[in-house]
Amino acid sequence: MAALAPVPDTAEPSFAELLAGRPFLSMHAQDGLLLEDVPLSAIADAVGTPCWVVSAGTLRARLAALRAAFDPLRAHVHYAVKANDHLAILRLMAAGGAGADVVSGGEMQRALLAGIPPDRIVFSGVGKQPPELLQAAQAGIAQINVESAEELEVLSAVASAAGHSVAVALRINPDVDAGTHAKITTGRADNKFGIGLDTAAALYAHAASLPGVRPVGLALHIGSQIGTTAPYRAAFARVADLVRTLRAAGQTVSRVDCGGGLGISYRDEVEGSPAAFAGAVGAMLGGMGLDLMIEPGRWLAGPAGLLLASVVLTKTTAGRRFTVLDAAMNDLVRPAMYDAWHGIVPLGAADAVAAVSDTDIVGPVCETGDTFARSRLLPPLAPHARVAILDAGAYGSVMSSTYNARPLAAQVMVDGDRWAVIRPRQPLESLWANETIPDWLAAR
Ligand SMILES: *Cc1c(COP(=O)(O)O)cnc(C)c1O
Repeated sequence: MAALAPVPDTAEPSFAELLAGRPFLSMHAQDGLLLEDVPLSAIADAVGTPCWVVSAGTLRARLAALRAAFDPLRAHVHYAVKANDHLAILRLMAAGGAGADVVSGGEMQRALLAGIPPDRIVFSGVGKQPPELLQAAQAGIAQINVESAEELEVLSAVASAAGHSVAVALRINPDVDAGTHAKITTGRADNKFGIGLDTAAALYAHAASLPGVRPVGLALHIGSQIGTTAPYRAAFARVADLVRTLRAAGQTVSRVDCGGGLGISYRDEVEGSPAAFAGAVGAMLGGMGLDLMIEPGRWLAGPAGLLLASVVLTKTTAGRRFTVLDAAMNDLVRPAMYDAWHGIVPLGAADAVAAVSDTDIVGPVCETGDTFARSRLLPPLAPHARVAILDAGAYGSVMSSTYNARPLAAQVMVDGDRWAVIRPRQPLESLWANETIPDWLAAR
Protein backbone atom coordinates (compact mmCIF):
# COMPACT_ATOMS: atom_id res chain seq x y z
CA MET A 1 0.00 0.00 0.00
CA ALA A 2 1.31 3.42 -0.91
CA ALA A 3 2.27 5.64 1.97
CA LEU A 4 0.02 8.62 2.49
CA ALA A 5 1.45 11.82 1.10
CA PRO A 6 2.82 13.88 3.96
CA VAL A 7 0.52 16.74 4.89
CA PRO A 8 2.47 19.96 4.31
CA ASP A 9 2.96 21.61 7.68
CA THR A 10 1.90 24.89 6.11
CA ALA A 11 -1.62 23.50 5.68
CA GLU A 12 -4.15 25.86 7.14
CA PRO A 13 -6.93 24.67 9.37
CA SER A 14 -10.24 24.71 7.49
CA PHE A 15 -13.24 26.68 8.80
CA ALA A 16 -14.70 23.41 10.08
CA GLU A 17 -11.48 22.58 11.92
CA LEU A 18 -11.32 26.05 13.45
CA LEU A 19 -14.89 25.72 14.71
CA ALA A 20 -14.38 22.17 15.96
CA GLY A 21 -11.65 23.37 18.29
CA ARG A 22 -13.88 26.14 19.67
CA PRO A 23 -16.98 24.59 21.22
CA PHE A 24 -18.67 27.91 21.98
CA LEU A 25 -18.75 28.72 18.22
CA SER A 26 -21.09 26.92 15.83
CA MET A 27 -22.36 27.34 12.29
CA HIS A 28 -26.14 27.39 11.92
CA ALA A 29 -27.72 26.84 8.49
CA GLN A 30 -29.95 29.93 8.68
CA ASP A 31 -28.39 32.14 11.33
CA GLY A 32 -24.76 31.65 10.35
CA LEU A 33 -22.02 31.75 12.95
CA LEU A 34 -23.23 31.65 16.56
CA LEU A 35 -21.23 32.59 19.66
CA GLU A 36 -22.84 30.59 22.47
CA ASP A 37 -26.53 30.93 21.45
CA VAL A 38 -26.33 34.33 19.77
CA PRO A 39 -26.08 34.80 15.98
CA LEU A 40 -23.13 37.11 15.44
CA SER A 41 -24.90 38.67 12.44
CA ALA A 42 -27.64 39.94 14.80
CA ILE A 43 -24.96 41.74 16.81
CA ALA A 44 -23.35 43.14 13.67
CA ASP A 45 -26.76 44.32 12.40
CA ALA A 46 -27.52 46.11 15.65
CA VAL A 47 -24.11 47.46 16.60
CA GLY A 48 -22.24 47.67 13.30
CA THR A 49 -18.67 46.63 12.64
CA PRO A 50 -15.88 46.51 13.63
CA CYS A 51 -17.10 45.14 16.94
CA TRP A 52 -15.45 43.07 19.67
CA VAL A 53 -17.57 40.26 21.07
CA VAL A 54 -16.64 38.33 24.20
CA SER A 55 -18.27 35.15 25.50
CA ALA A 56 -19.03 35.18 29.22
CA GLY A 57 -19.66 31.44 29.21
CA THR A 58 -16.22 30.79 27.76
CA LEU A 59 -14.52 33.00 30.34
CA ARG A 60 -16.36 31.24 33.16
CA ALA A 61 -15.59 27.77 31.83
CA ARG A 62 -11.90 28.51 31.32
CA LEU A 63 -11.50 30.07 34.76
CA ALA A 64 -13.26 27.08 36.34
CA ALA A 65 -10.99 24.64 34.46
CA LEU A 66 -7.87 26.49 35.51
CA ARG A 67 -8.95 26.73 39.13
CA ALA A 68 -9.81 23.02 39.18
CA ALA A 69 -6.34 22.13 37.87
CA PHE A 70 -4.67 24.19 40.58
CA ASP A 71 -7.05 23.22 43.36
CA PRO A 72 -4.88 20.32 44.64
CA LEU A 73 -2.05 22.83 45.14
CA ARG A 74 -4.44 25.34 46.75
CA ALA A 75 -2.94 27.89 44.36
CA HIS A 76 -4.69 31.21 43.81
CA VAL A 77 -5.50 32.38 40.30
CA HIS A 78 -4.78 36.07 39.70
CA TYR A 79 -6.13 37.13 36.29
CA ALA A 80 -3.58 39.27 34.42
CA VAL A 81 -5.77 42.33 33.88
CA LYS A 82 -3.75 43.69 30.98
CA ALA A 83 -4.99 40.90 28.70
CA ASN A 84 -8.47 42.45 28.73
CA ASP A 85 -9.30 45.00 31.38
CA HIS A 86 -13.00 45.64 30.69
CA LEU A 87 -14.96 46.04 33.95
CA ALA A 88 -17.51 43.38 32.95
CA ILE A 89 -14.73 40.84 32.40
CA LEU A 90 -13.10 41.75 35.73
CA ARG A 91 -16.49 41.39 37.46
CA LEU A 92 -16.90 37.97 35.92
CA MET A 93 -13.40 36.95 37.05
CA ALA A 94 -14.18 38.17 40.57
CA ALA A 95 -17.41 36.18 40.61
CA GLY A 96 -15.48 33.12 39.48
CA GLY A 97 -13.07 33.42 42.39
CA ALA A 98 -10.08 34.99 40.65
CA GLY A 99 -7.93 37.76 42.03
CA ALA A 100 -6.07 40.21 39.80
CA ASP A 101 -2.50 40.81 38.67
CA VAL A 102 -2.20 44.49 37.73
CA VAL A 103 0.67 46.40 36.14
CA SER A 104 -0.41 50.02 36.69
CA GLY A 105 -2.34 52.21 39.09
CA GLY A 106 -5.06 52.42 36.44
CA GLU A 107 -5.44 48.65 36.27
CA MET A 108 -5.55 48.52 40.06
CA GLN A 109 -8.42 51.03 40.08
CA ARG A 110 -10.25 49.02 37.43
CA ALA A 111 -9.88 45.83 39.49
CA LEU A 112 -11.12 47.53 42.66
CA LEU A 113 -14.04 49.14 40.79
CA ALA A 114 -15.06 45.75 39.39
CA GLY A 115 -15.22 44.31 42.91
CA ILE A 116 -11.96 42.39 43.19
CA PRO A 117 -11.00 42.73 46.86
CA PRO A 118 -7.66 44.47 47.56
CA ASP A 119 -6.34 41.41 49.34
CA ARG A 120 -6.68 39.50 46.04
CA ILE A 121 -4.67 42.02 44.02
CA VAL A 122 -0.97 41.70 43.15
CA PHE A 123 0.90 44.64 41.56
CA SER A 124 3.66 43.77 39.06
CA GLY A 125 5.64 45.87 36.58
CA VAL A 126 9.12 47.17 35.94
CA GLY A 127 8.44 50.90 36.28
CA LYS A 128 5.92 51.51 39.05
CA GLN A 129 5.91 55.16 40.05
CA PRO A 130 5.81 56.51 43.62
CA PRO A 131 2.16 57.70 43.41
CA GLU A 132 1.12 54.25 42.16
CA LEU A 133 3.08 52.54 44.96
CA LEU A 134 1.46 54.82 47.52
CA GLN A 135 -1.97 54.15 46.09
CA ALA A 136 -1.31 50.39 46.32
CA ALA A 137 -0.09 50.67 49.92
CA GLN A 138 -3.13 52.74 50.89
CA ALA A 139 -5.52 50.31 49.19
CA GLY A 140 -4.00 47.46 51.21
CA ILE A 141 -3.39 45.15 48.23
CA ALA A 142 -2.08 41.64 48.82
CA GLN A 143 1.41 42.03 47.44
CA ILE A 144 3.72 44.18 45.38
CA ASN A 145 6.11 42.30 43.12
CA VAL A 146 9.29 44.37 43.24
CA GLU A 147 11.46 44.22 40.12
CA SER A 148 14.68 46.00 41.19
CA ALA A 149 16.80 47.17 44.13
CA GLU A 150 15.97 50.73 43.10
CA GLU A 151 12.22 50.11 43.23
CA LEU A 152 12.57 48.43 46.64
CA GLU A 153 14.16 51.59 48.10
CA VAL A 154 11.44 53.81 46.65
CA LEU A 155 8.66 51.55 47.91
CA SER A 156 10.20 51.37 51.38
CA ALA A 157 10.43 55.16 51.55
CA VAL A 158 6.92 55.77 50.21
CA ALA A 159 5.20 53.11 52.34
CA SER A 160 7.01 53.85 55.60
CA ALA A 161 6.43 57.61 55.26
CA ALA A 162 2.70 56.89 54.97
CA GLY A 163 2.79 54.48 57.92
CA HIS A 164 2.21 51.32 55.86
CA SER A 165 3.94 47.96 55.79
CA VAL A 166 3.58 46.28 52.41
CA ALA A 167 4.00 42.59 51.61
CA VAL A 168 6.64 42.31 48.91
CA ALA A 169 7.72 39.51 46.59
CA LEU A 170 10.95 39.89 44.66
CA ARG A 171 10.44 39.21 40.97
CA ILE A 172 13.26 36.96 39.90
CA ASN A 173 14.61 36.80 36.37
CA PRO A 174 15.39 33.07 36.16
CA ASP A 175 17.27 33.41 32.83
CA VAL A 176 15.34 30.77 30.93
CA ASP A 177 14.17 30.99 27.34
CA ALA A 178 10.41 30.49 27.15
CA GLY A 179 10.81 29.57 23.48
CA THR A 180 8.27 32.12 22.34
CA HIS A 181 8.25 35.25 20.14
CA ALA A 182 11.11 37.63 21.05
CA LYS A 183 8.63 40.43 21.80
CA ILE A 184 6.80 38.36 24.44
CA THR A 185 9.67 36.60 26.21
CA THR A 186 10.45 38.14 29.59
CA GLY A 187 12.60 35.72 31.57
CA ARG A 188 15.97 35.99 29.82
CA ALA A 189 18.84 37.63 31.70
CA ASP A 190 18.96 40.41 29.10
CA ASN A 191 15.23 41.25 29.32
CA LYS A 192 14.26 44.31 31.35
CA PHE A 193 12.23 42.30 33.86
CA GLY A 194 13.08 41.16 37.36
CA ILE A 195 16.11 40.72 39.59
CA GLY A 196 19.07 38.53 38.67
CA LEU A 197 19.40 35.23 40.50
CA ASP A 198 22.92 36.21 41.59
CA THR A 199 21.76 39.27 43.55
CA ALA A 200 18.35 38.09 44.77
CA ALA A 201 19.39 36.57 48.11
CA ALA A 202 21.28 39.66 49.22
CA LEU A 203 18.41 41.91 48.17
CA TYR A 204 15.91 39.73 50.05
CA ALA A 205 17.96 40.08 53.24
CA HIS A 206 18.21 43.82 52.65
CA ALA A 207 14.42 44.04 52.16
CA ALA A 208 13.94 42.35 55.53
CA SER A 209 15.91 45.19 57.14
CA LEU A 210 13.97 48.02 55.48
CA PRO A 211 10.97 49.82 56.98
CA GLY A 212 7.63 49.83 55.14
CA VAL A 213 8.18 46.51 53.35
CA ARG A 214 7.91 42.86 54.44
CA PRO A 215 9.51 40.34 52.07
CA VAL A 216 7.10 37.40 51.88
CA GLY A 217 8.34 35.52 48.85
CA LEU A 218 9.36 35.39 45.22
CA ALA A 219 7.64 35.98 41.88
CA LEU A 220 8.48 35.18 38.28
CA HIS A 221 6.87 35.45 34.86
CA ILE A 222 8.95 34.08 32.02
CA GLY A 223 6.95 35.07 28.95
CA SER A 224 3.74 34.58 27.06
CA GLN A 225 2.16 32.04 24.68
CA ILE A 226 4.16 29.17 26.22
CA GLY A 227 3.06 25.74 24.99
CA THR A 228 5.35 23.31 26.80
CA THR A 229 6.22 22.83 30.45
CA ALA A 230 10.01 22.56 29.98
CA PRO A 231 10.70 26.31 30.41
CA TYR A 232 8.36 26.45 33.41
CA ARG A 233 10.11 23.51 35.05
CA ALA A 234 13.54 25.02 34.47
CA ALA A 235 12.44 28.36 35.91
CA PHE A 236 10.56 26.91 38.90
CA ALA A 237 13.55 24.69 39.76
CA ARG A 238 15.75 27.76 40.00
CA VAL A 239 13.21 29.55 42.15
CA ALA A 240 12.86 26.50 44.42
CA ASP A 241 16.64 26.50 44.89
CA LEU A 242 16.49 30.15 45.84
CA VAL A 243 13.70 29.48 48.34
CA ARG A 244 15.89 26.84 49.98
CA THR A 245 18.90 29.15 50.03
CA LEU A 246 16.89 31.96 51.60
CA ARG A 247 15.35 29.71 54.21
CA ALA A 248 18.75 28.23 55.09
CA ALA A 249 19.90 31.80 55.70
CA GLY A 250 17.04 32.31 58.14
CA GLN A 251 14.64 34.25 55.87
CA THR A 252 10.91 33.69 55.86
CA VAL A 253 9.64 32.74 52.40
CA SER A 254 5.95 31.92 52.40
CA ARG A 255 4.75 32.71 48.88
CA VAL A 256 5.76 32.05 45.29
CA ASP A 257 3.92 33.75 42.44
CA CYS A 258 4.54 31.52 39.42
CA GLY A 259 3.42 34.03 36.78
CA GLY A 260 1.32 33.47 33.68
CA GLY A 261 2.20 32.77 30.07
CA LEU A 262 0.14 29.67 29.32
CA GLY A 263 -0.38 29.54 25.56
CA ILE A 264 -3.48 29.00 23.44
CA SER A 265 -4.06 27.49 20.01
CA TYR A 266 -4.42 30.29 17.48
CA ARG A 267 -3.64 28.08 14.47
CA ASP A 268 -2.46 24.55 15.17
CA GLU A 269 -0.35 25.00 18.30
CA VAL A 270 -1.11 22.65 21.15
CA GLU A 271 -2.92 24.70 23.76
CA GLY A 272 -1.06 25.05 27.06
CA SER A 273 -2.55 22.57 29.51
CA PRO A 274 -3.59 23.79 32.97
CA ALA A 275 -2.98 20.29 34.33
CA ALA A 276 0.54 20.21 32.91
CA PHE A 277 1.23 23.74 34.19
CA ALA A 278 -0.05 22.72 37.63
CA GLY A 279 2.07 19.59 37.39
CA ALA A 280 5.20 21.66 36.77
CA VAL A 281 4.38 23.97 39.68
CA GLY A 282 3.64 21.03 41.96
CA ALA A 283 6.74 19.06 40.96
CA MET A 284 9.12 21.93 41.59
CA LEU A 285 7.44 23.99 44.31
CA GLY A 286 4.85 21.68 45.90
CA GLY A 287 5.32 20.33 49.42
CA MET A 288 7.43 23.30 50.48
CA GLY A 289 4.74 24.93 52.60
CA LEU A 290 4.36 27.77 50.12
CA ASP A 291 1.26 29.78 49.24
CA LEU A 292 1.28 29.48 45.44
CA MET A 293 -0.21 31.85 42.88
CA ILE A 294 -0.48 32.00 39.11
CA GLU A 295 -1.20 34.99 36.84
CA PRO A 296 -2.67 33.84 33.52
CA GLY A 297 -4.12 36.35 31.08
CA ARG A 298 -4.10 35.08 27.50
CA TRP A 299 -5.20 31.54 28.36
CA LEU A 300 -8.30 32.81 30.16
CA ALA A 301 -9.39 35.60 27.83
CA GLY A 302 -7.89 34.91 24.38
CA PRO A 303 -10.24 32.23 23.10
CA ALA A 304 -13.27 33.98 24.63
CA GLY A 305 -13.26 36.95 22.28
CA LEU A 306 -13.44 37.73 18.58
CA LEU A 307 -13.49 40.76 16.33
CA LEU A 308 -16.36 41.14 13.88
CA ALA A 309 -15.56 42.92 10.63
CA SER A 310 -17.29 43.60 7.31
CA VAL A 311 -15.80 43.39 3.86
CA VAL A 312 -15.41 46.83 2.27
CA LEU A 313 -14.33 45.53 -1.13
CA THR A 314 -12.17 42.98 -2.85
CA LYS A 315 -9.51 44.15 -5.27
CA THR A 316 -6.87 42.47 -7.39
CA THR A 317 -3.46 44.06 -7.88
CA ALA A 318 -0.60 42.41 -9.78
CA GLY A 319 -2.45 39.12 -9.59
CA ARG A 320 -2.95 39.24 -5.81
CA ARG A 321 -6.45 39.30 -4.40
CA PHE A 322 -6.93 41.65 -1.45
CA THR A 323 -9.97 41.36 0.79
CA VAL A 324 -10.27 44.76 2.48
CA LEU A 325 -12.08 44.79 5.83
CA ASP A 326 -13.49 47.68 7.86
CA ALA A 327 -11.40 46.51 10.85
CA ALA A 328 -7.72 47.43 10.92
CA MET A 329 -4.46 47.26 12.82
CA ASN A 330 -5.65 50.09 15.05
CA ASP A 331 -8.33 47.67 16.31
CA LEU A 332 -6.30 44.44 16.47
CA VAL A 333 -2.56 45.09 16.28
CA ARG A 334 -1.30 41.56 17.02
CA PRO A 335 -0.72 40.52 13.38
CA ALA A 336 1.25 43.73 12.69
CA MET A 337 3.13 43.70 15.99
CA TYR A 338 3.84 40.01 16.61
CA ASP A 339 3.24 38.43 13.17
CA ALA A 340 0.34 36.75 14.92
CA TRP A 341 -1.91 34.28 13.09
CA HIS A 342 -5.65 34.55 13.78
CA GLY A 343 -8.33 32.31 12.33
CA ILE A 344 -10.73 34.25 10.11
CA VAL A 345 -14.15 32.69 9.46
CA PRO A 346 -17.10 34.00 7.41
CA LEU A 347 -20.29 34.67 9.37
CA GLY A 348 -22.55 33.42 6.58
CA ALA A 349 -23.30 29.67 6.40
CA ALA A 350 -23.15 29.72 2.56
CA ASP A 351 -19.84 31.61 2.56
CA ALA A 352 -18.39 29.06 4.97
CA VAL A 353 -18.91 26.21 2.48
CA ALA A 354 -18.15 28.08 -0.75
CA ALA A 355 -14.99 27.32 -2.75
CA VAL A 356 -11.98 29.11 -1.30
CA SER A 357 -8.99 30.72 -2.93
CA ASP A 358 -5.93 32.63 -1.94
CA THR A 359 -6.31 36.19 -0.63
CA ASP A 360 -4.57 38.71 1.58
CA ILE A 361 -6.91 40.03 4.26
CA VAL A 362 -6.13 43.64 5.07
CA GLY A 363 -7.50 46.72 6.81
CA PRO A 364 -7.96 50.23 5.41
CA VAL A 365 -5.15 51.89 7.41
CA CYS A 366 -2.36 53.44 5.37
CA GLU A 367 0.36 50.99 6.43
CA THR A 368 1.47 47.83 4.65
CA GLY A 369 1.63 46.29 8.12
CA ASP A 370 -2.15 46.63 8.28
CA THR A 371 -2.52 43.03 7.15
CA PHE A 372 -4.52 40.48 9.15
CA ALA A 373 -3.48 37.53 7.01
CA ARG A 374 -1.33 36.82 3.98
CA SER A 375 -2.25 34.14 1.42
CA ARG A 376 -5.26 32.92 3.34
CA LEU A 377 -7.94 30.70 1.86
CA LEU A 378 -11.28 32.52 1.82
CA PRO A 379 -14.26 32.40 -0.55
CA PRO A 380 -14.89 35.49 -2.65
CA LEU A 381 -16.77 37.77 -0.25
CA ALA A 382 -19.10 40.53 -1.45
CA PRO A 383 -19.02 43.99 0.09
CA HIS A 384 -20.84 43.93 3.48
CA ALA A 385 -20.22 40.21 3.98
CA ARG A 386 -18.90 39.66 7.46
CA VAL A 387 -16.10 37.71 9.04
CA ALA A 388 -15.05 36.88 12.59
CA ILE A 389 -11.38 37.20 13.52
CA LEU A 390 -10.98 34.53 16.19
CA ASP A 391 -9.12 34.33 19.50
CA ALA A 392 -8.98 38.09 19.90
CA GLY A 393 -10.11 38.21 23.54
CA ALA A 394 -6.63 38.86 24.96
CA TYR A 395 -4.29 41.67 23.88
CA GLY A 396 -6.95 42.76 21.40
CA SER A 397 -9.25 45.64 22.40
CA VAL A 398 -6.81 46.74 25.12
CA MET A 399 -4.14 47.49 22.51
CA SER A 400 -6.44 49.45 20.18
CA SER A 401 -5.58 52.96 19.12
CA THR A 402 -7.36 55.64 17.15
CA TYR A 403 -4.71 55.78 14.41
CA ASN A 404 -6.07 57.16 11.12
CA ALA A 405 -8.82 58.92 13.18
CA ARG A 406 -10.65 55.65 13.58
CA PRO A 407 -12.81 55.54 16.73
CA LEU A 408 -12.46 52.66 19.20
CA ALA A 409 -14.76 49.81 18.15
CA ALA A 410 -17.87 48.81 20.09
CA GLN A 411 -17.68 45.95 22.59
CA VAL A 412 -20.39 43.36 23.25
CA MET A 413 -20.70 40.56 25.82
CA VAL A 414 -22.62 37.38 25.01
CA ASP A 415 -23.89 35.12 27.79
CA GLY A 416 -26.00 32.14 26.72
CA ASP A 417 -28.78 33.64 24.60
CA ARG A 418 -28.35 37.13 26.04
CA TRP A 419 -26.08 39.85 24.80
CA ALA A 420 -25.35 43.45 25.75
CA VAL A 421 -23.24 46.32 24.49
CA ILE A 422 -20.57 46.76 27.16
CA ARG A 423 -18.94 49.74 25.46
CA PRO A 424 -20.54 51.68 22.63
CA ARG A 425 -18.51 52.62 19.59
CA GLN A 426 -16.51 55.73 20.43
CA PRO A 427 -18.24 58.80 18.97
CA LEU A 428 -16.09 60.23 16.21
CA GLU A 429 -16.21 63.78 17.65
CA SER A 430 -14.68 62.57 20.90
CA LEU A 431 -11.44 61.98 19.00
CA TRP A 432 -10.84 65.73 18.83
CA ALA A 433 -13.12 66.96 21.61
CA ASN A 434 -10.20 67.62 23.99
CA GLU A 435 -7.83 69.09 21.44
CA THR A 436 -7.14 72.81 21.54
CA ILE A 437 -5.50 75.11 19.03
CA PRO A 438 -3.02 77.54 20.69
CA ASP A 439 -4.13 81.17 20.78
CA TRP A 440 -1.46 82.27 18.35
CA LEU A 441 -2.87 79.93 15.72
CA ALA A 442 -6.52 80.44 16.59
CA ALA A 443 -7.11 83.94 15.26
CA ARG A 444 -7.89 84.00 11.59
C1 LIG B 1 1.46 39.91 31.06
C2 LIG B 1 1.73 39.29 32.37
C3 LIG B 1 1.06 38.13 32.75
C4 LIG B 1 0.08 37.41 31.85
O1 LIG B 1 0.69 36.83 30.76
P1 LIG B 1 -0.17 35.86 29.81
O2 LIG B 1 0.79 35.41 28.79
O3 LIG B 1 -1.27 36.68 29.24
O4 LIG B 1 -0.67 34.76 30.66
C5 LIG B 1 1.32 37.63 34.02
N1 LIG B 1 2.19 38.22 34.86
C6 LIG B 1 2.86 39.34 34.52
C7 LIG B 1 3.80 39.96 35.47
C8 LIG B 1 2.66 39.92 33.27
O5 LIG B 1 3.32 41.02 32.93
